[in-house]
Amino acid sequence: MRDQIDKYIGKLLADRSAIPGAIAIAAQDDVLIAQGSPELAKLAGDTLSRLNSLALVAARPSLPFAEFLIARAGKGETFILPQDTETRTFLHDIPFLRREDLAGDPAPELARLLGSRKGVIVEGVGIIAVGAITVEQAFINYSSVFHSTFVKYLQDLLTDGFKLPGEREAFESFRKQWLKPLSAEGLEFVDAISLDKEEILLEIERVGRYTVERGLVDSFFGNISACAGDLIYISQTAASLDELKGCIDPVPTDNSSTTGITASSELLAHRKIFEETGARVILHGHPKFAVIMSMLCDKKKECAIKDCWKECPHVRDLGGTPVVAGEIGAGGLAKRVPPVIGASGSAIVYGHGVFTLGRDGFGEAFRTMVEVENFCREEYFRLLKA
Ligand SMILES: [Zn+2]
Ligand SMILES: [Zn+2]
Repeated sequence: MRDQIDKYIGKLLADRSAIPGAIAIAAQDDVLIAQGSPELAKLAGDTLSRLNSLALVAARPSLPFAEFLIARAGKGETFILPQDTETRTFLHDIPFLRREDLAGDPAPELARLLGSRKGVIVEGVGIIAVGAITVEQAFINYSSVFHSTFVKYLQDLLTDGFKLPGEREAFESFRKQWLKPLSAEGLEFVDAISLDKEEILLEIERVGRYTVERGLVDSFFGNISACAGDLIYISQTAASLDELKGCIDPVPTDNSSTTGITASSELLAHRKIFEETGARVILHGHPKFAVIMSMLCDKKKECAIKDCWKECPHVRDLGGTPVVAGEIGAGGLAKRVPPVIGASGSAIVYGHGVFTLGRDGFGEAFRTMVEVENFCREEYFRLLKA
């Protein structure tokens, strides 16, 4: 258990989502253990001891965006409602506690909120996220809250601008220091993948690590596949993209068998994309600026559709990449992405993420995802200035 805790503290540091020295994880072993920064470890332990869950992460995010969202929220509001897919699918909404709600011991109130939600934001403290049966789940939920609050705050800035003292300065420092130039430089890819199983598995594992390391997805989300003859090799649902060894399933291209139930929930989309485009590989991630920009629609006022993320029938455009709506699963993005992705080799799904193709190998798919995200990043800052 202590190894698990160390591993996920390491991941929070590696993905730069939490401040070094302000991270703690508590877990139920034979006894309750809590490691990390002492104050947060105490809070984590006190809260977890009141829950029927295995683990809890309490950490101060490396960016003040969740904090700003609370300060910008209206007086009676008690939760944040981001519009991205990770919130929609996993978090539902993100409750928060303000400083003034924290008189005395916050653990009982936190435990109450975490009884029905996966993550909570506490003003002046950070993000508290719970894992029902593994430490990994607590890490994943922390990552999702970090991702969703990032996306929501940057969206809100476009509509409402800066409101609080220090906000603009904090944002500038995020832009200059936290945000790193994004490129595929220094990465190696197999030019044209063969039909060899071992080669394909190793290449998918490697590309999974690259995708996480370059910040194109939080480790748990996204998926990767390669088509080889009558087989598709695809990462399993809920597999961490940076740890895909043993988590890649071969499934038949023609849907003839029921194996692959552990295969990604996006298998159907991948299968149809291969069918319609003849590509060899598909990469799917949740790069943040593409997610933000995909939800920006200048027709929102006049459009009758309210559930844009699943109902919008329009194909919009971001720098030559088509943007479509669509839920995870058969009727949604599996229907809307395959017809549009072939022309540019890329497609963005509303509030969700990016799919890219490689005709021969992952180099093309990876570089295309980098280009899409860089375009969206530049476009975002252009709009924010305007
Ligand atoms: Zn996704
Ligand atoms: Zn619309």
